[in-house]
Amino acid sequence: MSAGMLGPFATEGEALDRPEVRAICGGQLAAVLDALDFAADELRDRVANCGDCDAHPADLCGTCENRLARAGGWDTVAGTLRGQQ
Ligand SMILES: [Zn+2]
Repeated sequence: MSAGMLGPFATEGEALDRPEVRAICGGQLAAVLDALDFAADELRDRVANCGDCDAHPADLCGTCENRLARAGGWDTVAGTLRGQQ
């Protein structure tokens, strides 16, 4: 996980020291997984309906290349969390 995804925390270890962060391993995990899945699907829908991609020679514009990378990152986080269930 990159530092940019940790919000106010400098390191992942620092984030995990906080009870509210550890709570996602309990009852809030399903909500976090739902949000990650929803967000990744939303980005993929935007890619599928992007006019810039239609006009791009590679059928994928730079914005959507970034969208797919972000969606893939969220899939990885969700997979990691599911592995801890
Ligand atoms: Zn696009």
